[in-house]
Amino acid sequence: LVRARNVHKSFGSNEVLKGIDLDVMPGEVVVILGPSGSGKSTFLRCINHLEAIDRGFIEVGDQQIGYELRKGRLHKLSDRAIAAQRRKIGMVFQQFNLYPHMTALENIVEAPIGVHGQSRKAAEAYAMELLQRVGLVHKAHAYPRQLSGGQQQRVAIARALAIRPTLMLFDEPTSALDPELVGEVLATMRDLAEQGLTMIVVTHEIGFAREAADRVVFMDGGKVVEQGDPNVVLSNPAHPRTRLFLSRFI
Ligand code: ATP
Ligand code: MG
Repeated sequence: LVRARNVHKSFGSNEVLKGIDLDVMPGEVVVILGPSGSGKSTFLRCINHLEAIDRGFIEVGDQQIGYELRKGRLHKLSDRAIAAQRRKIGMVFQQFNLYPHMTALENIVEAPIGVHGQSRKAAEAYAMELLQRVGLVHKAHAYPRQLSGGQQQRVAIARALAIRPTLMLFDEPTSALDPELVGEVLATMRDLAEQGLTMIVVTHEIGFAREAADRVVFMDGGKVVEQGDPNVVLSNPAHPRTRLFLSRFI
């Protein structure tokens, strides 16, 4: 579903991504680990075209992000076409970024109605289904300030799912949460993983990686240093950088 090749990205003279290659199969759950500043968030943002890449390419489904092939040549997509590509990719951030003046339900139906032109009735029916999936039907009419951090993040996950994405990106979805609230968000993500959603998750939750990931990718210094089966990479890493990084969690 995702094919990234030789992805390079610099901010000024700071080369943050130095040739990333990554494949993600449909239904696969890939966890990206790595030290602060290694380029994890930047890479996720490139997949979603929140950042433009300098070299290489990223394909999601049968489309190249930001470009299309016409008459044998690559052409830059219009802003509108890029927005359409982005609508197939759901993203969940560290900060939940819910609209404070909208209820949980209103937050979830905002994009389906506003951007996708769905009827309110259809959007709300699906939103209730999603609230069910994240265990928050009883909070449909609550405002974000009336919800715990974990509940807000679960609403944010439901909101990302409301556009029916083929791919979900998570960037440290639990690192802004109080420790006692992390579990409920990870449980929700584990459910999604079991239901066959394709997910790329940047997280420091090694337990989640061990239980839910099909593959673990370790990034360092803008490169993929090592990847493979979580049991192998997490228990018996081949690369010294991976070993050093993991030693901090034990
Ligand atoms: P963390 O674990 O702390 O979230 P990360 O692996 O997600 O780290 P990135 O956020 O991708 O790392 O950042 C990698 C590098 O890119 C950092 O040196 C950062 O300062 C730089 N960087 C990221 N975004 C920008 C930007 N918009 N403009 C300039 N530099 C940026
Ligand atoms: Mg980051």
